[in-house]
Amino acid sequence: MIPSEIAAQVRGLGVLAGDVLLVHTSFRAVRPVEGGPGGLLAALREALGPEGTLVMPSWTGDDALPFDPSSTPASPDLGIVADTFWRQHGVVRSRHEFAFAAAGPAAERITSDPLPLPPHIPASPVGRVHDFDGKVLLLGVGHDANTTLHLAELIAGVPYGLAKHLTVRGRDGRPKRIEYRENDHCCTRFALADEWLRDRGAQREGLVGRARARLVRSRDVVEVAVAKLAEDPLVFLHPPEAGCAECDEARASCASPETSTPSPRAAPPRTP
Ligand SMILES: [Zn+2]
Repeated sequence: MIPSEIAAQVRGLGVLAGDVLLVHTSFRAVRPVEGGPGGLLAALREALGPEGTLVMPSWTGDDALPFDPSSTPASPDLGIVADTFWRQHGVVRSRHEFAFAAAGPAAERITSDPLPLPPHIPASPVGRVHDFDGKVLLLGVGHDANTTLHLAELIAGVPYGLAKHLTVRGRDGRPKRIEYRENDHCCTRFALADEWLRDRGAQREGLVGRARARLVRSRDVVEVAVAKLAEDPLVFLHPPEAGCAECDEARASCASPETSTPSPRAAPPRTP
């Protein structure tokens, strides 16, 4: 397909000129697109127009080497479109390992926060997309790739947190290891968001290229997930009988309260 046809499909799904749009995509699911990954990016930019802002994940996934925004490739897990986007002229990229890339009027604001720990707190690119009342487009991928659900977990104050580290370049220029805890697991059960969002009529679905596409408001994702997490803080973890090593590790991390991921929520106001 040619980029203008793809742009029309993206508009048909509900993307408006001027939107802030966070895209997670697998090019393999969308193709063929004339111009390859660059053609798909041109289509997304066309759908958003000059007043819109396109945002994509751009982190490295390498915890052993310091990140350089001008040269470190995006993690292969993020796909060829994400790794093409940050290299394009005029695209802004965060200066830390949990980088996102963005182009458009809101790009600077979305990418300018300092290193967020854990990675998807409100003062991070996904948090800023939420602040802007942006939309999330899942293009050939499911909610297991929807990073905004990690933001929801943090806002909800989930009790699990796994030990992770990353390597930054210290002031003396030497690599420096930083330990942190992250609300992480296998993410398969993020797929529950499909049903939750459909139930409230908050998810648009259709084809973009050959890919199944889902379009949601970031705020709807967070609102619905925070409500479900209030009922069951472990709703995203596989049950023990599923034998999922990652979810079991997350579950085990709940045993000691001091190991839980701190909630970024402000303390509730005192009632007299
Ligand atoms: Zn699992």
